Amino acid sequence: MIRILNYIGGEMVPAIDGGWLPNPEPATAQVFSEIPDSGPADVEKAWMAARQAFPSWSVTPLEDRFRILHRISEGIETRMEDLAMAESRDNGKPLWPARKVDIPRAASNFRFFATALLQFASESHEMPGEAINYTLRQPIGVVGCISPWNLPLYLFTWKIAPALAAGNTVVAKPSEITPLTAWMLAEICREAGLPPGVLNIIHGTGPRVGEAIVKHPGIKAISFTGGTATGARIAAVAAPVFKKLSLELGGKNPTLVFADADLEETLRTTVQSGFSNQGEICLCGSRLLIERSIYTSFRDAYVERVSRLRVGDPLDTETRVGALASEAHLQKVLSYVRLATKEGGTLLCGGQQVYPEGRCRDGWFMQPAVIEGLGPACRTNQEEIFGPVVTLQPFDTEEEAIALANGVRYGLATSVWTRDLKKAHRVAAALESGIVWVNCWLLRDLRTPFGGMKDSGVGREGGWEAMRFFTEPKNVCIRL
Ligand code: NDP
Repeated sequence: MIRILNYIGGEMVPAIDGGWLPNPEPATAQVFSEIPDSGPADVEKAWMAARQAFPSWSVTPLEDRFRILHRISEGIETRMEDLAMAESRDNGKPLWPARKVDIPRAASNFRFFATALLQFASESHEMPGEAINYTLRQPIGVVGCISPWNLPLYLFTWKIAPALAAGNTVVAKPSEITPLTAWMLAEICREAGLPPGVLNIIHGTGPRVGEAIVKHPGIKAISFTGGTATGARIAAVAAPVFKKLSLELGGKNPTLVFADADLEETLRTTVQSGFSNQGEICLCGSRLLIERSIYTSFRDAYVERVSRLRVGDPLDTETRVGALASEAHLQKVLSYVRLATKEGGTLLCGGQQVYPEGRCRDGWFMQPAVIEGLGPACRTNQEEIFGPVVTLQPFDTEEEAIALANGVRYGLATSVWTRDLKKAHRVAAALESGIVWVNCWLLRDLRTPFGGMKDSGVGREGGWEAMRFFTEPKNVCIRL
């Protein structure tokens, strides 16, 4: 049994009141580790360590800060295989994307923001003959970072790296469902020479640890990625005390397939965009909108490919769909498949629980589902399912496609498939979506603004957006 520990003030420690929570492996349903069941007292201790570390970290020369963050990136790369194994075991995702995507991206996050801190600059506004204004961008102080279970180390580091790069100290909480790689990161940070207290990682549940971080009066900003309901709760707690907030929330992302698209490439990518990481990526395209003239042929080819996706042991290199992250989540996703049929939808493939042979027979697996015949207003087409479930809807005109795409409360990411460049520009401009991909999906440049509109969030991450979020601008006006 692995005992995961909190990382506070540079030390690995259990929860103050000594409680533990079980952490099961989704592929086998067996408990393989325990995490500290931390609470407000642990958050207070972490905050004190972070507050103590802040004065010196915030004035650490940029070159030194760069070197430490860069060493963390190298430490992640050195332990790539261990981290990928841990991520796959903890989350249920196949090992190969953990190796190819999750862990390399966590290393990139640290490398990217290590170099960003050397390049970051602030503005100056001249009033000719009268005054000069310059803007200082100073670190905020102690900040909170709270992340979800779907891309555990990838999203955890996406917040922590810019927060540290900008000179803040951090109290961070990974999801209780996937704590393992955050714990391993703590060790990497120690080896990289990150001073004690600069980063503190507290394990435990959202309502106890997450909420205590959000409520803490000394934690001045919260960067959160997770569900929209949790985001609303965080906003309600943080607004009256005027905390700076970055909220990256849920999605119900459309994929628009026009008849003039490169259909082979579209098919290949839309199968990925629907079912990568078991459909548990906030950017997954869960509503596939297809121009009516190609609807039947595209649907048949799509369903044929989705039916062939191999579900099973995450360690098997042939596996394309691993286990869902928790039993409760599997039950939620299966309940949406039942709802879809109750709402009049036709299940074209999948949708049932799978019991692989061998070591994974008790794990939380399901066959990817494709559903058609549902109107845009039904719950299946409106609510985020966050699993391997995609619905198909036909459209006749560009206007109808845009109306369908925009007709949900979310506005995170959209993928558009067409060979007509003018149409691509028109549609991209009309979409209510923080991110639009044209003839691609999940192609990421870390300098670009990342985030959603409407109920998908507030604020943007990535590049200068993240560096600006984690700094407080102060204008200094000097009369000439
Ligand atoms: P949750 O909102 O349930 O949890 C996210 C994090 O918040 C977890 O660490 C959780 O802790 C914690 N938390 C829960 N309750 C509170 C609270 N009251 N106060 C503070 N923190 C709390 O989301 P999931 O983990 O289920 O992740 C899935 C969701 O995340 C989906 O909606 C998905 O779309 C969204 N997401 C958005 C992304 C984006 O960039 N827009 C990217 C990835 C995911 P614990 O798990 O321990 O309960």
